[in-house]
Amino acid sequence: MGIGDYSIATLGSHSALQILHGAKQEGFKTIVVCAKGREEPYTMFPVADEIITVDSFKEFPEEELIKKNAIIIPHGSFIAYMGIEATKSMNAKYYGNKAILEWESDRNMEREWLKEKAGINMPLMFEKPEDIDRSVIVKFHGAQGGRGYFLARNTEDFNEKIKAHPGKEYAIQEYIIGVPIYIHYFYSPITKELEILSFDKRYESNVDSIGRISARDQIALDSVDPSYVVVGNVPIVIRESLLPKAIEMGKAVVEASKTIVGEQGLFGPFCLEGVLTPDQEFFIFEISARIVAGTNPFVDGSPYSYLKYDEPMSTGRRIARDIKQAIEQDRINEVIQ
Ligand code: AMP
Ligand code: AMP
Repeated sequence: MGIGDYSIATLGSHSALQILHGAKQEGFKTIVVCAKGREEPYTMFPVADEIITVDSFKEFPEEELIKKNAIIIPHGSFIAYMGIEATKSMNAKYYGNKAILEWESDRNMEREWLKEKAGINMPLMFEKPEDIDRSVIVKFHGAQGGRGYFLARNTEDFNEKIKAHPGKEYAIQEYIIGVPIYIHYFYSPITKELEILSFDKRYESNVDSIGRISARDQIALDSVDPSYVVVGNVPIVIRESLLPKAIEMGKAVVEASKTIVGEQGLFGPFCLEGVLTPDQEFFIFEISARIVAGTNPFVDGSPYSYLKYDEPMSTGRRIARDIKQAIEQDRINEVIQ
């Protein structure tokens, strides 16, 4: 079968515009699945050949997508709305390794993969509030984009602030002072190459504007607690001497993934999310094993993808190219599940 026999499909949110635009650039037909009332971006921007509207994302039109021989590209909202179990049991063609999903969604397994197996530097975790011996950030499970996270100076401070969140499951992590950096990688099982496609930092409300209020006024306005709700993404180019470390980390994560989920390992786009300290040390607090929305500023490519491809190459397009090359080489089963 040739690429004309397939469509590329995804849910209408997150990075769908980029994914579908990239798929069209590579010559695929495209389908977007939209929740009712959220179709407009996909008619305003001509990236979808077909729009399937559903009442809610829970009613994922799997049968219809199977009939159309669609390949589904997962993104952050896709996993958030569908859930891991529904994603795993889906029969439609799926780009990526489903076995990796639980390794990234469980903080303990994620840590075993990144820290123990890949040797990645991560912030300390505190099992119990009594163990807190430095500034920490407290994160809630399944937090919708950083809502409710808080900082605590010590156990006392933690005990006071946690009162506002009764019954919630949380993780206590060392707070790293530095700048946030999100590294966008791509590993192709077809070319067997690791690529860095771009970097971003998130634009988070309200933490990214607290610095606009003087310390005096912050104290006067005692309602100013930082929150980390993501509202957008800002492109970054990093100091060139930091690239070797970024490349080394990406390779280590891919290699280690083979020891946890088998030879196929992690492939496609993934992102290491962390903070870079003034000592130029990366502390990674999370991995996303799929396309992240931080790649959206690069619909037309990034400085890094341009260095490699000399043509516009977004992460969405890179995914489509991987699928295209797999089809052309009769290796489609190596990239879909
Ligand atoms: P949404 O479809 O915008 O409601 O997003 C669903 C989830 O995807 C959010 O809870 C975020 O965790 C993640 N997400 C969406 N947009 C972005 C973004 N621009 N940057 C980082 N994460 C995002
Ligand atoms: P997350 O939901 O884990 O991606 O975290 C949301 C935001 O919280 C990040 O973009 C950072 O700004 C901040 N953050 C998370 N973990 C840490 C940490 N250990 N040290 C410093 N900042 C952090």
